Amino acid sequence: MAIGVKVMKRPERQVSYVRATLKGMALTFKHMFEPRVTMQYPEQKSTPDWSLSQRWRGTHRMLTDEQGRSKCVACGLCPQICPANCIKLVPGEDEHGNRYPLIYEIDEFRCIFCGYCQEVCPEEAIHVGVHFENSEYSRGRFVYDLERLQSQTHAVSTLWDPSDPRGE
Ligand code: SF4
Ligand code: SF4
Repeated sequence: MAIGVKVMKRPERQVSYVRATLKGMALTFKHMFEPRVTMQYPEQKSTPDWSLSQRWRGTHRMLTDEQGRSKCVACGLCPQICPANCIKLVPGEDEHGNRYPLIYEIDEFRCIFCGYCQEVCPEEAIHVGVHFENSEYSRGRFVYDLERLQSQTHAVSTLWDPSDPRGE
């Protein structure tokens, strides 16, 4: 495909930039009287017009049962399906033959928040969450162990629904 090149001619005589400056200032002043689209983060995290979608996929949560134990049965599906290979699972088994995770870790730094782990989990134990404020000072702090995943309290994400593709 041919590429069109627009050649700009340099002005042959001295020109004034006053007109261009006034135009720029007029544009700035115009915005001063328009509705504000920014918010005072982090004091303000949402407005009536803007909030995180329920489908936002952020920091994980591990849900627990009534006894406070992780709902995970260490089936191994989520580490198997994880495209970023960021879930570490070491399964254990109690005296009744019930499986549970001895070690369950997610590296939130490597995670691409695809949500596959949530979709594949047969126990609805692991979820991506409606949360994004997980900055840290060291790389190691991004590895969330089971206890930390269980202590998260933010809302869990809803999965993609083809009948409601925009999550409304
Ligand atoms: S959201 Fe995707 S990348 Fe992140 S842990 Fe789950 S399966 Fe892996
Ligand atoms: S898919 Fe669910 S039950 Fe299976 S290992 Fe992952 S979190 Fe545990």
